[in-house]
Amino acid sequence: MNGLKDYGSFLEHLKSGDLLRTIRDRESPQGRTVSLNGQDLLNFSSNDYLGLAANDAVVKAAAASLTKYGFGGGASRLLSGGTSAHAMLEAKLAAFKGTEKSILFNSGYAANSGAIPALTSLDDTAIFSDELNHASIIDGCKLAKASTSTSTSTHVYEHGDIDHLRKLLSHSSTAHKIVVTESVFSMDGRLVNLRGIYELCREYGALLYVDDAHALGTIGGGHGGLRHFGIEPDEDVIQMGTLSKALGSVGGFIAASKTIVDFLVNTSRSLIFSTALPSSAVCAALAAIEYLENHGELVTRLNENVTMAGNLFKRYGVTINNICTPIVPVLFEDSGAALAASKSLLDNGIYAPAIRPPTVKQPRVRITITALHTAEDIEYLAKTLSEITRR
Ligand SMILES: *Cc1c(COP(=O)(O)O)cnc(C)c1O
Repeated sequence: MNGLKDYGSFLEHLKSGDLLRTIRDRESPQGRTVSLNGQDLLNFSSNDYLGLAANDAVVKAAAASLTKYGFGGGASRLLSGGTSAHAMLEAKLAAFKGTEKSILFNSGYAANSGAIPALTSLDDTAIFSDELNHASIIDGCKLAKASTSTSTSTHVYEHGDIDHLRKLLSHSSTAHKIVVTESVFSMDGRLVNLRGIYELCREYGALLYVDDAHALGTIGGGHGGLRHFGIEPDEDVIQMGTLSKALGSVGGFIAASKTIVDFLVNTSRSLIFSTALPSSAVCAALAAIEYLENHGELVTRLNENVTMAGNLFKRYGVTINNICTPIVPVLFEDSGAALAASKSLLDNGIYAPAIRPPTVKQPRVRITITALHTAEDIEYLAKTLSEITRR
């Protein structure tokens, strides 16, 4: 018995509960519309918020890098895997985030799952983590527990709940404390009170680790959560980000003080034991940040589209929570209903997949608005959603 049958019956079980996931691949670039199985669809499922993944300047920069550096990194960053482009991007990201230094990882997932256990490898450290934090943070916390001989403990606080966080911090007597939160939550689009959390961290001498994956390019004029909340990026704040969402490339990073970045270079396993990002991804991200800096109107347009979506959803009677970021969940009672809604959208030429447990507790169709959408696109979405949810 090798268990193969049990894997099979597990899949059957998922299927009968409307929880089986499958992969759908595009035949076109990421963008306002995408082609799936030969069908052109209006795309409301992308984290490419500014449309930079297929932007001319970004694609050209990636192509030009191939002539200069070739493709593969060929080694980890600590050997010969990095190029002068890696160093340039790190300097750029640090300046963009207002920190002394930054360090690239191969993905946002690798950044969280590598940096969190590294940062908690000091003796007597406690992590305070929002209950709705992304899987890569949760895995980082799990690895933190698994990989230290010391006693790292993780305390989960209720989503965005400052009072609960205060209670946990005040009851903790550990020497080192790290509070980990997203700024814009990936599945709800909700902003937490980052300023309140920051002040609490100061009060209790904790480091603040902010996952800005969905904040970069969307809030704070594109600079992210700290800028949005008017928080100075001092040395007690660690900003994590990804190149894979609004920057339209692939990769992750940590921007922080020189001490923290140098510490991660020496201790983060996902950085040390993995081949460096290809320079084409690095050059694409560099071009994307430059494009963003020179085209502030892109972020403005994104935010206008978000406001417009809120107004149109209200006008057409689509029930959503307060919308303040490009991520708009439309919630459903059960996975079957969410799947059916997503299917109806597809039949009407709209791509917006259902997100189901265990990724989220309550099933939803997760809509993402981008700067590429037109007013007509958003109105068509609102109208179609209202017909579907009313049924
Ligand atoms: C997407 C995401 C990540 C992972 O980033 P990748 O670059 O896609 O690996 C980390 N944190 C949050 C909150 C995310 O939404």
